[in-house]
This record gives sequence, C-alpha cells and structure tokens, in this order.
Amino acid sequence: MSQATGTLYIVSAPSGAGKTSLVKALIELTGNLRVSVSHTTRAMRPGEHDGVNYHFTSREAFLKQVGEGDFLEHAEVFGNLYGTSQQTVERTLAEGHDLILEIDWQGAQQVRRKLPNAHSIFILPPSQTALRERLTQRGQDDETVIDKRMAEAVAEMSHYVEFDSVVINDDFHTALDDLRAIVRARHLRLDAQQSRHTALLQALLSE
Ligand code: 5GP
Repeated sequence: MSQATGTLYIVSAPSGAGKTSLVKALIELTGNLRVSVSHTTRAMRPGEHDGVNYHFTSREAFLKQVGEGDFLEHAEVFGNLYGTSQQTVERTLAEGHDLILEIDWQGAQQVRRKLPNAHSIFILPPSQTALRERLTQRGQDDETVIDKRMAEAVAEMSHYVEFDSVVINDDFHTALDDLRAIVRARHLRLDAQQSRHTALLQALLSE
C-alpha cells in the first residue's frame, strides 16, 4: 500500500503583494494545510515570535546548518539568510499533511529541482502604483527606501514565468478564492487521490 503523502506548495510574491495575509486566510479555510516556519538570520520585528513567524538564528548557526545539509533550500534575500528545514518538510508531507513554503524565487527554483511535484504559485499586485501605495503605507520609510523596495519587487516579479499558477491580488477575497481553487484542484489530481484513497480504489475495482 502506498503511503499517504501531502502536497507541497510554493508561494512567492514581491513584498507588498499581500502574500502573508492571503496564506494566513487560506490556512484558516483549508483543512490539513500547514505553513512551514523558515529559519532566518534577520532581526525579529515587533510583534513577531520565535518559532511562530520564523526560527530566528545567528548567521554562524545558520551556516553550520547549511554545512550539515539541514536545508531543503536556502537563499540570501535583502542581506539576510533564509532556509527551509528539509526534515520538517519531509515529516509533514509523510504524515499526509499539505504544506506551504513562503519563499523567494531563488528558493522556489531549488525546491522545484528537488521536488518536481511541488505546485508553485506567484502572487502579483494589480499594478506598480498599487504596489507602491502598499509599500508606502507600511511604515514611515522615505522615498529612497520605497524606490529601492520597488526595484527589488520588480526584480522578484520578473520570475513569475517560472511558476505553475499566477494569482493577481487586486481584491483580497477574489485572490483568496483563486488560491482555494488552485489547492482544491490540486487536491483532486489523480496522484493525490490515488495516494489518499488507495483502499477505496482497490475495493471499487475488486471482482
Ligand atoms: P521577510 O523578512 O520580509 O519576512 O521576508 C523576506 C523575503 O524572504 C520574502 O520574499 C520571503 O518570501 C523570503 N523568505 C522567507 N522565508 C524564506 C525561506 O525559508 N527561504 C527563502 N528562499 N526565502 C524565504
């Protein structure tokens, strides 16, 4: 009998596209779907908690883990290191749970190479103007910082063509519905159904 294995989703987006809020809402509405908690060397932001938003770690400890092959993928993003624990991903999927990795395009490329069955989704903003507004509303950053963030966002967005699905976050609820449709359709694919309903399928075809 084949083991139940969950589906792996990769979700990438430029900062300001609403990825984190959408993923949070998707998790709340979808049974058996979890989000992976990454390791990072960046400083904790107000309101964040170690082990919840990220596993916050030092650069030295992170590099040691890289050397020990602990990460399924890892990348430097805006000067900080980020990585996904290989063991956690393997265990979660083997237990039959579906899992989302919220990672950048570099990490997405690495995961795709190792796990070609992963379904990758890119979330885009509806326009550069909307993205700039969202980045401006976030804090009291000056124009130079916003310009830098915009340039980084455009560089990230240029990778959308590498993804299986694209969702445009103009209206939050529409984008959320789109994500739910992707997950539901992926759930019903032959390989997923076969691994979930092995006994039923055998029983249905028995003489
Ligand atoms: P933030 O520091 O704002 O939470 O995230 C910055 C960027 O790092 C985002 O694009 C986010 O998707 C990406 N990121 C977060 N965790 C990981 C990870 O484990 N691996 C990779 N490659 N990127 C990550």
